[in-house]
Amino acid sequence: IIEVRNVSKWYGAFQVLTDINLTVRKGERIVICGPSGSGKSTLIRCFNRLEAHQEGDIVVDGIHLHAKMRNISDVRRNVGMVFQHFNLFPHMTVLMNCMVGPMWISGVPEAEARARALKYLDRVRIPEQANKFPVQLSGGQQQRVAIARSLCMQPAVMLFDEPTSALDPEMVSEVLETMTGLAKDGMTMVCVTHEMGFARAVADRVIFMNAGQIVEEAKPDEFFSNPRHERTKLFLGQIL
Ligand code: ATP
Ligand code: MG
Repeated sequence: IIEVRNVSKWYGAFQVLTDINLTVRKGERIVICGPSGSGKSTLIRCFNRLEAHQEGDIVVDGIHLHAKMRNISDVRRNVGMVFQHFNLFPHMTVLMNCMVGPMWISGVPEAEARARALKYLDRVRIPEQANKFPVQLSGGQQQRVAIARSLCMQPAVMLFDEPTSALDPEMVSEVLETMTGLAKDGMTMVCVTHEMGFARAVADRVIFMNAGQIVEEAKPDEFFSNPRHERTKLFLGQIL
């Protein structure tokens, strides 16, 4: 569903991604990890063209991403994204946060958008918070709203960029449980995270990035028990 071929990207003179190759198939769960500044966020932001790459090809759900494309909104609709900071609309209730995407972007009628919002708020197990404002919720609850809001667009794939790293420790597990539930339901997911327990339990493949390159790509048991590259070993030694 995501096909990345020989992709490179520069910020001015600084090369942030070097010759990235990656295939994400429907139903797969990919975890991307690596040191700060290695280009993890930049890479997944290229998948919905929040960032533009300069070399190589990215095809998402059959749509080729390039400078002259006219259907970026189709891509954004199909690719949900959850950020470290939840980016909820502060002046809207939780319910409205979940309704506006389908209503304004996809033209879904209000009643249907409401039903959909309630369904996904139930899925992330906070239906009782629907009429509160984001500021009245804990960090973990806000992040689960952000996940529900993305799901309301019924995306073909979900991208997560360190969704738990801004949370207090006691709230991390509720968000990871929500993500694990999504994985069990068969959602295609690309997750940038350093939660290695999650990677072990959920990932089909773990990708390790360093200095803008994919250094290692392996099944989780292989990745953790027998990392091939020195840089991966060093990294795992630091975070495990
Ligand atoms: P972290 O774990 O800290 O989130 P990351 O792996 O997600 O790191 P990126 O955010 O993708 O890394 O950044 C990769 C590199 O590109 C970093 O050196 C960063 O300083 C640089 N960079 C990121 N965004 C920009 C930008 N808009 N302009 C210039 N340089 C940028
Ligand atoms: Mg990042």
